[in-house]
This record gives sequence, C-alpha cells and structure tokens, in this order.
Amino acid sequence: MTEFKSLDDIDFAGKRVFLRADLNVPMNNRAITDAARITEAAVALRELLDGGAAVVLASHLGRPKGKAVPEFSLRPVAAQLAGELGGAAIEFVDGWGGSRPEDAAAALQPGEVLLLENLRFEPGEEANDPAFAARLAALADIYVDDAFSCAHRAHASIIGVPGLLPAAAGRLMQKELEALKAALEEPEHPVAAIVGGNKISTKLGVLENLIAKVDHLLIGGAMAHTFLLADGIDVGRSLAEPEMVDTARRIIDAANGNGCRLTLPTDVRVAAELAETADSKAVSVDAIPDRMMALDIGPKTAAAMNAVITQCRTVIWNGPLGAFEFPPFDSGTNSVARLVAERTRSGALKSIAGGGDTMAALVQARAAADFSYVSLAGGAFLEWLQGRELPGIAALKT
Ligand code: ADP
Ligand code: MG
Repeated sequence: MTEFKSLDDIDFAGKRVFLRADLNVPMNNRAITDAARITEAAVALRELLDGGAAVVLASHLGRPKGKAVPEFSLRPVAAQLAGELGGAAIEFVDGWGGSRPEDAAAALQPGEVLLLENLRFEPGEEANDPAFAARLAALADIYVDDAFSCAHRAHASIIGVPGLLPAAAGRLMQKELEALKAALEEPEHPVAAIVGGNKISTKLGVLENLIAKVDHLLIGGAMAHTFLLADGIDVGRSLAEPEMVDTARRIIDAANGNGCRLTLPTDVRVAAELAETADSKAVSVDAIPDRMMALDIGPKTAAAMNAVITQCRTVIWNGPLGAFEFPPFDSGTNSVARLVAERTRSGALKSIAGGGDTMAALVQARAAADFSYVSLAGGAFLEWLQGRELPGIAALKT
C-alpha cells in the first residue's frame, strides 16, 4: 500500500473529515431492505470518531439525476446509521439549498457526524463541476474515500474533492485495494479465473485482460455456450450469442498464444424450460437435445474445474456457472464454490470474487464467508477486472 495513504498515515484528531461512503442501499417505499452497506460504512465512521475527528458524511442514493427527488433522500439512512453507532446523534442536513451544509459543518464538533443529503440531488456531482467540488471540499480539512464501488465514476465527490484536500483511503477501500492487488497484480501462481454469467458481450474486456494474466481460465454459465458454438457444437435452445462466435474464437486463440489454459464445459445440465420444477438431466455437450437448453455445467465439468483449482494458489471469480436462481441449476456453482471455500479455509488458496449475482450465488452456496474477499462493488469490480485504472483510485494516488 505504498501508493495510497490510509487512515494510518493521516492525523485526523480534531480535524473535520469528509467521508465519501457508499450508502446507496436498496429501498422499498423509503424503507431500507438491506442495510449491509450502512453496517460497513459504520466501521470507518467509528474509527474516525474514536480518533477525535468530526465527520461530514456523504453518499449518493439511486439516480435522482441532479434534482431533489424525495424518494431518494438519505434521511432514512441517518436513522439506521445512528442505530448502528449505538444511538449516536447523526445530524442530517436536509438539502443543498442556501448555506445549509456550510452552516451545519461550521457548527460540527469532534465526535459528531453530519450526514449530507444525496450528492446526486446536485447536478454538479455527476458532472464533476469544479464549483460543486470546491463547495464540498470547503466543508472539511481531510478527504477519506471508503466507496470503492463508486471508484469507476468520475464524479465531484470521487475525483474532485481529493484534488483539493489531503486524501486517504478508508478501511473498506484499503481492504478492497489490497485484496485486488493480491489477486491480479502480485498473485501467487498458479492463478485460475472463473468466469460465468450471461453474456460474452458484457465481459469481453474482462476475458481479454484475464487471458494475459492468469494461468487457467474456467468458463461456465451461458457465456460458455458461445464458446461451444465456436467449437462447432450445437447448443439447442441454450442462451448464446451466435454473433459473438468469431470473438469467442479470437479469445480461444489468444488464450492459447498466452499459455493460458482454457477449461470449457464437456457436459451440461439441460431442461426444456427454466423453472425449479423442470425435469433436468446431465448430458455431454455434443448431445444437447434440439428442444432443450443448458442451464448449468454438468458434474464432469465441475469435477474438471475443481481439479484445476486444487492445483492453484489464487482464484478470481466473476459470474455464476449456471442459472443458480433455479435449483438444481445451482449445482455446478455450489460444487465449485464449496471447493474454493474449503481450500481457502485450509490456507491452500486465496480467493477473490465480485459481481452482484456472483455474490448472491456464493451466499446461496454458503461459501461466501470463507472466501478471502468478496467485493460488494459490481461495476467497479468488473472495470477493475478489465485492467482499467479507476478514476477514484487514480485520484487517491500520492
Ligand atoms: P454478475 O452479476 O455476478 O456479474 P452476471 O450478471 O454476468 O453475473 O450473470 C448472472 C446471470 O447469469 C444469472 O442471472 C444466471 O441465472 C445467468 N446464467 C448463468 N448461467 C446460465 C445459463 N446456463 N442459462 C441461463 N442463464 C444463465
Ligand atoms: Mg449481474
């Protein structure tokens, strides 16, 4: 962690800290349906408060597109956060009008928290308007970024403010950056990447970047069907992208040229429809019935993937290997996830996973807790997997 300052490197006692957190929690009718991000944000907040800082806390919520939309107010988050902190007072600044944020920040004392209203109520946030960035920076002495999931956004609170104040990564950001570094930049080899999910088209950049860096690429999920098509295999009614066959062939050639070993399905679980009640069977990939679709990798493929993983020291995973939302089509994902979990627990493996559906699939497999690191960031994790420098991380570099 030489290129970033962390909370260890800055003296925040008696200072006002602008903490950019990710409090973008799912809501239904203004009720929070999953408070995980608030629980996580409370960790950094507690450390800053215990260390004698006054905290100006900021986040976006949903997509209000530069206007004050009541359903996207952060007010419910303030109450939840107060509960997380054991009833500490969180002052909520109701809106951006006049000098409300400025007045509240001026009155803020060490040990106190001010939660600003949704940053995206102001058009200057997403536009990275220098005037809005300056307004935010003027509220504090130090900038701390704990929102890795927003690091791919070139917004005022992500890249504008750290250009104006001394900046550091918060603990969540630090953990995420360290985990990612251990996975791709300085991993212990052999490294296996597991890529699944819907489509090649949305993960092309990921595949191209991984091929150049990992020793083994294990491909499952619907995306594997396009690779099978490229091999001249008839996939029946399976989800596939025939227009991406040339791309798949190019990826196979590039992998071969880079000494990256590919593992593709040799068998799949098929059914006539995508439903939990569907009759299913495992068949060899060259015997997929015309009127059926492949909805999971088969047991032979799962065993082959597990054999590769057993030889590896590092695993990076994005994308479920089947339609895991509909058991039994979670079997392949579960089998591989549990092996990765077991080997991580025993110390044989470092395992990093990310992606919204991947996370849900690993939780469902009861494997997520044993992974070395599971990223809560969907888009930012995928952009990082593509090898892109994220603007929010570049802005923190010293
Ligand atoms: P993530 O959100 O982790 O990046 P994706 O969104 O790329 O993952 O892919 C997840 C989706 O892919 C899931 O909804 C899953 O049902 C679907 N999927 C995986 N394999 C198949 C398959 N064989 N047929 C249909 N859908 C599949
Ligand atoms: Mg998804």
